[in-house]
Amino acid sequence: MSPALIERYREFLPVTADTPIVTLSEGNTPLLPAPVLSAQVGAEVHLKFEGCNPTGSFKDRGMTLAVSKAKESGVEAVVCASTGNTAASAAAYAARARLRCIVLLPEGKVALGKLAHVSMCGAEVVAVKGNFDEALEIVRYLANTYPVEMVNSLNPYRIDGQMTGAFEIVDVLGDGPVYQAMPVGNAGNITAYWKGYKRYQEAGRLQRLPRMLGFQAAGAAPIVLGKPVSNPETVASAIRIGNPASWKDAEAARDESGGLIDAVTDEEILAAYQLLGSKEGVFCEPASAAGVAGILKLAKEGFFKPSDQVVCIITGHGLKDPDTAIASAPTPTSLPAEKGAVASALGLESQ
Ligand SMILES: *Cc1c(COP(=O)(O)O)cnc(C)c1O
Repeated sequence: MSPALIERYREFLPVTADTPIVTLSEGNTPLLPAPVLSAQVGAEVHLKFEGCNPTGSFKDRGMTLAVSKAKESGVEAVVCASTGNTAASAAAYAARARLRCIVLLPEGKVALGKLAHVSMCGAEVVAVKGNFDEALEIVRYLANTYPVEMVNSLNPYRIDGQMTGAFEIVDVLGDGPVYQAMPVGNAGNITAYWKGYKRYQEAGRLQRLPRMLGFQAAGAAPIVLGKPVSNPETVASAIRIGNPASWKDAEAARDESGGLIDAVTDEEILAAYQLLGSKEGVFCEPASAAGVAGILKLAKEGFFKPSDQVVCIITGHGLKDPDTAIASAPTPTSLPAEKGAVASALGLESQ
């Protein structure tokens, strides 16, 4: 088995010899060059494909630490509100730790693959008739009132574990990229990456801090608008959040790094989602394409120089949301089972 993420970066993480390490061998995800995207953007673009984590999203980086610390503290249950990926990750790591897992999901708004994952990993699922922000309020109440540990990104161990994404990028590139682009939902991940880059700088492992480029969906863009959105709407369900928990930290990451947080429309997100699949062979979920949609938008304004290294965090796997994939793709051609009919419909010509 490849080593647990916590073991690889132990010196940067709040664990002791007594912490039971709960791992599914997360992290160490590919950093892929993206030649087609690079040509379109006019910069050197890389994709950090976090869909390769054990439960198909970056949430596993934080969950390995949050659940390990929950196990160490002796609680019996972990609880979270989720648009789906946090719940899938919590369910899997809690199963591994033999802890009870309770998840609150916004009813009818969770992608199919995430629901399947949560159910198979044995979590107790409550479908809340409300949105993510309302579910998170209830979870905060439960964690303050009962002996259950909240594993949303308000849990500082989630942020600390997610710093490892930044560490891995620097370990491969030898320094920070010029820009890092990513989707922003509850804003824990942009907070974690920025914290990770700064920790690596303190440790002398990085010379250049990247500028952080965060992108919200236009229908769920509270940080861009400067006020909470009470009914957030977007096809990118993982970032369908109207009042981000780490709002202030996301603004600090933006301002300290000299970056920006902007909005992209659902059309732009879906165009980037299709481009990633069909031109780079990277099938991600819609929210994960928001960072790519963002740099394509900025490129139109001549934002990048050809020598700029840009890393896009591809936060989750496409199989999480099969409904959006099928709705976005052309329907297959139906043909009789005849060799000639298939060959001619495909326009193949013999040599
Ligand atoms: C959780 C999630 C996000 C948003 O991350 P935040 O830390 O909430 O900003 C984006 N994409 C995917 C696939 C996610 O699961």
